Parts: sequence; structure tokens; C-alpha cells
Amino acid sequence: MGKLAVGVLGATGAVGQRFVQLLADHPWFEVVELAASDRSAGKPYREACTWRLGTPMPESVAARVVKTCDEKFESRILFSGLDSSVAGEVETALANKGHAVVSNSRNHRMDPDVPLLIPEVNPDHLDALAVQRKRTGGGYIVTNPNCSVVGLAMALAPLQRSFGLSEVAVATLQALSGAGYPGVASMEIADNVIPYIGGGEEEKIETEPLRILGTFAGGTFADAPFRISASVHRVAVTDGHTMAVFVRLKTKATAAQAVEAIASFRGEPQERKLPTAPRRPIHVRPRRRDGGERGPRAHGQALRPEAGGPRPQHHPRRGRSRHPQRGAAQGPGPAAVIVMKFGGTSVGSPERIRALAERVRERLARSPVVVVSALSKVTDSLVRGAQLALARDSDYESVVYEVLDRHHRAIHDLVPPGPAQERLLSHLDATIGELRALYTGVYHLAELTARTLDAISGIGERLSYEMVAAALDAAGIPAQGVDARGVIVTDETFGRAMPLLDETRVAAARMVQPLIDARTVPVLPGFVGSTRKGVATTLGRGGSDWSAAVVGAALDAEEIQIWTDVDGMMTVDPRLVPSARVIPEVSFDEAAELAYFGAKVLHPATIKPAVERGIPVRILNSLNPSAPGTLIAGRLGGDERGEPRAIAFKKGIAVILIAQPRMLMAYGFVARVFEVFDRHRTPVDLIATSEVSISLTVDHPEAVPAVEDELARLGEVEVLRGMAIVSVVGRGFCRHPGLAARVFQTLREVNVVMISFGASDVNFSFVVAEADAERAVRLLHHEFFEERR
Ligand code: ADP
Ligand code: ASP
Ligand code: MG
Repeated sequence: MGKLAVGVLGATGAVGQRFVQLLADHPWFEVVELAASDRSAGKPYREACTWRLGTPMPESVAARVVKTCDEKFESRILFSGLDSSVAGEVETALANKGHAVVSNSRNHRMDPDVPLLIPEVNPDHLDALAVQRKRTGGGYIVTNPNCSVVGLAMALAPLQRSFGLSEVAVATLQALSGAGYPGVASMEIADNVIPYIGGGEEEKIETEPLRILGTFAGGTFADAPFRISASVHRVAVTDGHTMAVFVRLKTKATAAQAVEAIASFRGEPQERKLPTAPRRPIHVRPRRRDGGERGPRAHGQALRPEAGGPRPQHHPRRGRSRHPQRGAAQGPGPAAVIVMKFGGTSVGSPERIRALAERVRERLARSPVVVVSALSKVTDSLVRGAQLALARDSDYESVVYEVLDRHHRAIHDLVPPGPAQERLLSHLDATIGELRALYTGVYHLAELTARTLDAISGIGERLSYEMVAAALDAAGIPAQGVDARGVIVTDETFGRAMPLLDETRVAAARMVQPLIDARTVPVLPGFVGSTRKGVATTLGRGGSDWSAAVVGAALDAEEIQIWTDVDGMMTVDPRLVPSARVIPEVSFDEAAELAYFGAKVLHPATIKPAVERGIPVRILNSLNPSAPGTLIAGRLGGDERGEPRAIAFKKGIAVILIAQPRMLMAYGFVARVFEVFDRHRTPVDLIATSEVSISLTVDHPEAVPAVEDELARLGEVEVLRGMAIVSVVGRGFCRHPGLAARVFQTLREVNVVMISFGASDVNFSFVVAEADAERAVRLLHHEFFEERR
């Protein structure tokens, strides 16, 4: 399709020039007509216009001859940057001639059938066009709000939707650009703040948002039912207005809830991915009082230093801004970040850490935030040490030594002698001292609570992240460690704590975002967090992936990258079946099933924060960085031929069988059984039922004895331990015949204990004895992935 021809009215003025600039490379529109006052008419645009914008005048319009606004226009769509002294009449006349006029002027904003539009906030107000077009006979006017109102109404919209608004007080600090060219006299503004700047600004701010946040129904607009009081000041800032807004909400909300509502706000332009829509309409930034680099100009330089680029410490503007109050960015917001998580093998040795630094360096332009695991096998060692101490075996001391020695050597290899190395070594000493004290406590008490184990097992990450940050710095990449115990806030389920996203988001804005703004790479330990009271927790084994996703969600990352030791998510664990193949793309749902049922390459909980925010997750190989990896994104798509996509398995499963012949024809049995699991907070994976019996699986064997005792009151209980779940994952299983037959034909010589099929369209699972699991998996992989015809 060709582009739509459009015209710009008032094309030589400040707003007209901005229209010309923004439309220059627009994929849908092409500026073919330019109109201005009689004075400019007849001249080529390049002569008629004193171009004042930072980018050059677009070539495509420079030679076009400017016409007057009364002439005939070929373009149906006209963008009006006319001054309000003439806009009123001209725009009415053009709408009456059938044109669609998009106006920046205030004249028609409050007309009873003219939409005052912020596409993110009130696209439904376009319904008013039907009324307007009856009046004009086909043409219409759509207006945009006063420049302060755009930001204000946009920020109020999510608060109004989530909590309701009853009162708003706003003070604006408006930049010089808002006064047009040449604007305010220098003798008036230098060293000054001018209150009450005139032009009806206060009134516009007090009325326009009410229209925008109000409704259009039954052919008329109704204002939003709250009051705004505004005071407007001019300050000596070139571009970008700042506003201090105080709101009274109808429903009480915490600061974190308010931040969450604002930060997660999206509108129709984002959903439709309109070409010039910002990916995030609102950016929430931490409060800073130190005059750091926050102003619009600083954001305009959002390009990050590339390899070998200037180090932020030497950035000329850093720490020198004289405008601490510079705020709301007018230009593009700060670049979105990517989260790069490196697993145990990817930080397992100094060479691997140096390679990690290169992966980060290649992506500096995308503002990476790094999350790291403990060095490979360190978490296992830490847990083993705890078990030794619990068993009153003083050999835990060899674990302490092993961990100390490994980090000691890595630090010497990675960081040259000097203050940075000394700092790291003393951090290592202090942390190892803590570990020894914890082990000694466990040894003497012969008691190991989940809480203590969390304090112990998280030590690996607490050692690795500081080291990786220092190694990045030593490689010329400015980086700083941020202890995730101050960022990831969790509940108190020690051993598998659940991150609390609202609190984490606030902490990330405070602890992580300022580093990103200062172009320093934040490096966080994965796996660890802390409760609201500050007690250390962990997210469960393999939990660093989850940390990465939580950090990604909290910072609204554009992508979460999981760097590991395989080429991506594969058709089966490549350690078991070397002929496993990489799956280039999977949906969130498929990845969730695979991860949950044993594809260890990703912690299953990782998917949730990513899905909720629509953040794609990419699995990449740090040993083979040029491999494209696996992209996890989107919902289940069209290609669902009922073919398996991968096979996963999970060992250490217990099957619990409960039989109660008396329950024949009765009801309530299943409910009572599940109440028991609920009380013990024990998740159930697979279920099979008959009239009088239920079989189910759990993968927390430690919970089984307690559950078993209670279940025994409901019926006869049998527990089969040492079982494994094998899962075939794909799409559209329930809608295509033949899968079950093929699976069981393949497994004809394997004893299948339990089957679950039909609960989900993407998963077909069954239980076999652990000893049979690997054979079953190999047979199935052979059948579905190696024999494809
Ligand atoms: P990291 O330390 O990077 O978090 P993990 O050891 O937790 O790495 O996960 C990577 C491992 O997951 C791989 O080495 C592989 O053996 C295993 N794995 C299991 N199932 C799969 C699968 N379907 N695809 C890829 N890897 C898998
Ligand atoms: N180091 C932790 C573990 O081994 C967390 C992780 O690596 O994801 O479980
Ligand atoms: Mg892992």
C-alpha cells in the first residue's frame, strides 16, 4: 500500500515544523502539502521557513512550495500547527470542506462534538466523530491537549482506573520551549522562576483532563467527577515540563500499588503496535534529590557507550547538572533494559567470566542488567556442608575450605592487585566467616531449619556477584554489584520463597535504576532475596532464572536472556539423548509445561513474570554465543498439528494412592483429600481418579509422611516412591488422533503406572518407575524426533 498523502498547516511555525519532522519518515504518511501565512506562500519551504529543530530539514519537503490555508488541498488528512489566533476559523472551514483536521490548537478542544484525544487514554472519544460529521457533512476535527495536560492526564488515567480520583493539585514548572519562539525575554527568565505565566494555562490544566478522563456516551461528553487545582510557573529549562502532582484517591492504595498501576499502564496504541507509539507510555523513575543525570537532555543521550566507549565516570555531564528539578522527559524515554542471567557453568571459571564480560560488552547499547548464579557446583557443596554439619560431621570444614579456595583463586585471576582486589578478598573473608559460623551453629545444635539452610545456600551467589562485577570493571565495563537481598522482596517460605512483585519493583527503582541511568551495569546475585523484615531467603534450587525474570518484570525489561551451557531449550535433555535438537521458538505455555515437568534449562516459575508483562525470554549458550538459541514468547499459535515438540522427565516423584470403597456413589471424597494437601501446602502434579480411589503424584517427598498420616484417616493409603513423570509436550494434543496410540505402542515394554491426558492440550504425562524413565524417554525421543518421515 502506498503512503497516505497529508498536509501540514502552519508548517513554518514551531509546532508545524515539529509535525514536518515527525512525519518525515513515517511508514504510513507522506507530507505533500505545506501551508502557512500569506507571507510565506509561493516560496519553497526551505526559504519560507527558518528551521529551528535539532535535526536537518527533511529533504523530501525542502523544495515544496508553500501555499496559503485558503487554497484547495488534495490531501484529506491535514495536521494543524496553526496559531490559535487563526486556527479556529481555518480548521472549521477545512472540516466543512471534508478534511480530517488533526489540530494542536486549543480553539476546538472543548467543542461539544470534538474529541480531545490522548490515544493511550481515551480512544473511545473518537465516537464523537459520528456526531460531528453529521454537522460538517463528512470532514472533522480531532484535537490534542495542551502540552502539560498530555503528561498529567496520562499519569492520572491509571490512578483513576485503579483507585478512583477525588482531588488533584498540580504545580507545573514549564520549559522555555512551551512559550514558542523566541519565547520569554532573557532578562526576565535568567535566574528567575515566573509564576502565573498567562495564556489561560491554569484553566486549561484544570479543565482539559476532566474532559479526557470523562466519558462520551449518548452523543455527549461528561467530565470526570473530580476537581483539579493548578498553578503554572515558567522556569529556565530548555525542553521538558516538570509537574508535581498531589492526588487524593477514592480507594486507599499504598505507594507501591500506585507505582505499579502507573508503570504497568498501556493503551491501545501499544496493543496495536502503532508505528510511533512508545513501547511504554509512562516510565516510573526513582526519586532523586541529588541532581543526577535525569533531565530530558540526559535521556536524549540514551545511547549507551559501545565497546571501548567512554566510561560513565568520565561522562561530562555526570554530577554537574545544575537543574536538579529537571523531570518529565519530553523526548523518548530511557532505553528499555535487557536482563542477562548467567548460570553456574557460565560463571564457573575465570575464562567463562571473561567470556561473560564480552557478551555484556556486545550488548551495552541495550542497557544490560546482569544476574548471576553461584559458580558451578558451589550451591551443591554448600548444601552438602550443611548436611555434614547436621550429621555432626566436622568435615563440613573441608567444604568451607573448598569454597574459599575456589573464589580466592578466581579473584586473583580476574582482578589485578589493587584496591578492587583487596575489597573483594575482604568481602570473601567476611562471607566465609559467616558461612563457618552458620555451619558451626548447625553442628552444635544438630538442627538445620529451612531458614538456616537458605542463609547457607545463598552464599554462593553472594560470592559470585561481587566477583563478576569487579571482573566487568576490570575489563573496562563500568559495573556495580547490587545485593539482591535488598531488591528481591519475598514471602517467608524459606527454601522456596515467593517474590513479591510490588515491593520488588519499588526496590528495583531505587537500587537498580539509578545505576542504569548512570550507565553502570548492575550485577545482582540470583537465587537470593529477603523477607520484608530483611531475613535472607532463596527462591529454590535453580532459582536464579526466576530472579532474572522478577528483575526483568520489575524494570519492564524488553527481553530476559538466560545464558546457560546448551544451545537452547531442546527436544530432550541433551545429557540423556545426545541427538537432542534445539527448538528455535516455543510459546510461553509450552515452555512452562516443559520447565515444570523437568526441562531443567529453565526454572518453571520464570515464565510467570515474563508472561504477565509480555517480556520475551531467550535461552542462549554462553559457550556458543553465535547460536540463535530459543525464543520463548507469545501464546499458543496456529501451528498445532498435534505433534510433540519435546520430552521432559522428572525423577524423585512419589505416587500416593488413596482408596475408600465406602465412598461409592458418595460425594465430597475428592474435596477432603485435597484439603489435606492444601493444609500441608503440598502441590499435586498429576491426578487419576475412579469412583472409589484417587492416585496422585507429589514431588516433595519430604512432605509425604505428614500427608500420608492424615490421608490414612480418609481411606487406605499406599505410597509408591522412586517414581518418575515422563511428559510429552506439544500443541493441540486433544484435537488430533493417534498420539496416545503412538506413545503406548512405543512404550509397550515399559510398565506405565499412571497416565494423565486431557488436562491440558499441550501435555501428555505418565508415571513410570525411576529405573524405567530414561529408557522411556529415549524410546519416545527416537520415535518422535529421530524417525521423522
Ligand atoms: P544453569 O547453571 O545455566 O542454570 P542448568 O544446569 O540449570 O544450567 O540447566 C542447563 C541444563 O539443563 C543443560 O545442561 C541440560 O542438561 C539440562 N536440560 C534438561 N532438559 C533440557 C532441555 N529440554 N533442553 C535443554 N537443556 C535441558
Ligand atoms: N545456584 C542455585 C542453584 O544451584 C541457583 C541457580 O543456579 O539457579 O540452585
Ligand atoms: Mg539453572
